[in-house]
Order: sequence, then structure tokens, then C-alpha cells
Amino acid sequence: MAERTRIVILGGGFGGAYLAKALTRRLGLSEAEVIIIDRNNYFIFYPLLVEAGCGSIEPRHCTVPIREFAPKAELLMAEITGLDLDGKRVRVECCGKGAEDWVEFDHLVVALGSVTRILPEHICSGVKEHAFFMKTMGDAIVLRDRAIEALELANATDDPDEKKRLLHFVVVGGNVTGIEVVGELETFVREACALYHNVSESDCTFTVYELAPEILGIVPEHLRNWAAKALTRRGIRLKTGISVKEVHADHVVQSDDEVVPCSTVIWTAGIAPNPLLKELDGLPLNKFGGLECTGDYRAAGLDHVWGLGDNAAVPGPDGKPMPPLAQIAIRQAPQLADNIAASIQGGSLKQGHVGVQGILVPLGRHRGIASIKGIKIHGILAWMMWRGIYLMKTPRLGRRIRVALDWFIDLFCRRDFVQLGLSPKSRRELGHQKVESESAQEHH
Ligand SMILES: Cc1cc2nc3c(=O)[nH]c(=O)nc-3n(C[C@H](O)[C@H](O)[C@H](O)COP(=O)(O)OP(=O)(O)OC[C@H]3O[C@@H](n4cnc5c(N)ncnc54)[C@H](O)[C@@H]3O)c2cc1C
Repeated sequence: MAERTRIVILGGGFGGAYLAKALTRRLGLSEAEVIIIDRNNYFIFYPLLVEAGCGSIEPRHCTVPIREFAPKAELLMAEITGLDLDGKRVRVECCGKGAEDWVEFDHLVVALGSVTRILPEHICSGVKEHAFFMKTMGDAIVLRDRAIEALELANATDDPDEKKRLLHFVVVGGNVTGIEVVGELETFVREACALYHNVSESDCTFTVYELAPEILGIVPEHLRNWAAKALTRRGIRLKTGISVKEVHADHVVQSDDEVVPCSTVIWTAGIAPNPLLKELDGLPLNKFGGLECTGDYRAAGLDHVWGLGDNAAVPGPDGKPMPPLAQIAIRQAPQLADNIAASIQGGSLKQGHVGVQGILVPLGRHRGIASIKGIKIHGILAWMMWRGIYLMKTPRLGRRIRVALDWFIDLFCRRDFVQLGLSPKSRRELGHQKVESESAQEHH
């Protein structure tokens, strides 16, 4: 019997997991062995991450177990640490093992996703140290814990300025993720106020900074105007054409030098390809650090290395890289599976072609905007459309039922305003004195 071809997929997120599923459908077990390497044994269903953080659904209900999703593929739960292209092997550190191993491959797929883009210090300082993010399950839970801490401290103080500072939440980046975060966070925090005797909804401030002249540049003009009005009516301040140049523990400095006291800064100002790619020797990278690919998903100049998803710049029919979205990665996967199968079986490769089907943005409080296949709607219908579409897209029936039940319960019952306490990070820097004494200790 001929030896099986080994296809190793780096990253089991949207791109990697859907690809593994497609490959194991196209290639028989006797023909190919598919191995996913990921640091987690699940991937995050990102469209539901903000809701999971803010308590409309249980956090684990926005995860998808990789083994269940792609049962015919093998999963290696490990941190990817290096690549030997000539030797056709990947270096990994299996979780908890503390030692490195090599995994050999015949074909390699790079699907390591993206990270939140942090600007250089001379453009905006203090982001890494003081800001919060929305990229991992931990980020979502830490932000919820942080909001609750801010409420607890605000309830315990009689100093009105300090109360205002503690309950001022700043979001930097007014595109889809930033707007989704501010919409959900505002709902969460204001609803929680009912439980605090010394805090009222009017003590809370939410500010979005967006450098572009308008928020939500990606959606059609009348929808973005509608969203801006809806958010402003709820008291959310939208500061456009301006950004933040310093983030501190207890304030931000705007690009026009104004100092604005706040307790929590959430950074959603863009994404960048996974920086690990730069450590994987021999991969062709573009100027943004993404995997440079040809239209058939092959890494430029390499015939056994492929890429898809956020970390790969795969040109579409218009020559521009396909955008970094889950809806793109999911539909790239079967095309790439066909090409890998063709390259193993001696067939011809096809050019990839996947476009954006639509944009849906939930704004919190049962409102949203949707622009999908020519249909442009806003308000409660758009919000219902968002929920309906993502419920259908949630993988596996059991998970769909869990999410639907969470949403149903959320309609009638108050959320649990509890800290999950999974990360001590959420406790950092809330009070001025604590910050000063901690940083003084660090310096000694
Ligand atoms: C809050 C939020 C909301 C979003 N909402 C939407 C939406 O509504 N619609 C939409 O189309 N898109 C949405 N997106 C974008 C979407 O999530 C991405 O485009 C999609 O996840 C890209 O898939 P991917 O496979 O390239 O990366 P990912 O899904 O991020 O997968 C990358 C995988 O690589 C693994 N990995 C990374 N580094 C290592 C390492 N060193 N070792 C081992 N494993 C590693 C990670 O654990 C992860 O599982 C959203 C993104 C965010 C952050």
C-alpha cells in the first residue's frame, strides 16, 4: 500500500478547522492523514464572542470543540514554535510537556489567524500595558470582570469625580468589533447599575474614538448614519476624526492633547497577521507580515505550503487580498481542499474566488444594522437577522440549541452580573494609588 500523504494544518480556527473537515471528506483515510496543530482544543465562534463576554450567552457556548467538529482529522494540542521548511517539519511544544518535538509533513497549511494590531509607541503609547482587547475568550471574560470591578469600586466611593472616572469606558476603533463591543458593554453596565445603590446609569460614560471621519466605514452610508444616531441617543459619545495617543491606567490623552480620565480602555483598532509567521523560517511574507500567496492558495514560490484565513494574503479575482473575515475563511476552505487534493492526485489547481456576502452589526438593546446581498435594513429586524443567521451558522445542532436557549432566557431574566475571576489581570490598575505603588515596586 502506498504511504499516506500527511497534511499538517497550523491553527484550527475558522480556516484550519473547516479545511480539515473538507479535506477529510475529499481524501480517504488510506490516502491522506490530516493533522491540526492548535494551542487550544477548540476554536472560538467569534461572532458570538462579545455576547459571551457580556453575559447574553454562556462563554463556553461560543466555542467549538475541534475534535467533534472535524472527527476524522487528528488534533495535536500544542504551541507552534518553529519551522524547518527544507526538512519538511514543524517544531511544537505539546501543552504541559515542557519539551519540543518535531512533526513532519508532506503538505503544510498556515492558518494561524490574526492578532489585535498594536500601534508603535511613538503613535500611541501604553496600549500593551493598560488596554483591554477582544480577541480571545480570556479577553472577553476579563473585560466583563473589569466592568464589574469598576461598578463595585464606584459604588464604594462618594467622590463624584472618581465615580465618573471609574465608570468611563473608552473604545478605540469604531469599526465593526469596536461598535459591537460598545453596544453590548453599554447595555451590560447600565443594566447592572440597577443592583448598585450608590451608582446610577447617568454616572456611566462610553466613548468611541475613530480616526476616520465616520464610524463603521465598511457599511453603506445610510446604515452607518443610522447606527451613529442610535448609539448617540443612548448616550454613547462618538468621537470621529480623532484618536488617542497615550493610554494610561487612569486616563487617555487624545491626539489633540486633551487629557480624558477613564478606567478602562478597550483597543479594537485593527488587526495584523499572527506575528508567529515571522518566526517560521522561509515563509514568503508581505510588508504587513502576512503569508504572500498566489490565487490558488499556494505560498508564493512553494508548492507544498498553502495559506488561508486572516494570516494569508490570497488575491481574489480583482487582484486584491480577500478580506480577513470568518465568512471568507469558511468559504476558502473547500476551495483550498480541492486544490490540495488535486495536487496530491495530479489534477489541476483552480484560482480562489470568495467575496463578502454581507455585513451584520449588532448594536446591543435588540438593535442592529445589516447589509446583505442587496438587502439593507436596520433596527430590531436587522438584529433578529443577525441572530438568525449566526444561529444557523453556529456549528452542530447541540451548540445551536444551547445558544438559542441562552438567548431565550436572556429575553426574560436578568443576566448574572458576576465576575468569573479567571484572570488576575482584570484587577490591575483600577485605583490610582494602587497603580503608583505597584509600579514603584516594579521599578525597585
Ligand atoms: C470579536 C470578533 C468578532 C468577529 N465577528 C465576525 C463576524 O461577525 N463575521 C465574520 O465574518 N468575521 C468576524 N470576525 C473575524 C473572524 O473571527 C476571523 O476572520 C476568523 O476567525 C479568521 O479565521 P482564521 O482561521 O484565519 O483565524 P482564527 O479563527 O483566529 O484561528 C487561528 C487559530 O490559530 C491558533 N494559533 C495561533 N497561534 C498559535 C500558536 N503559536 N500555536 C498554536 N496555535 C496557534 C489559534 O489558537 C486559533 O485557533 C470577528 C473577529 C473578532 C475578533
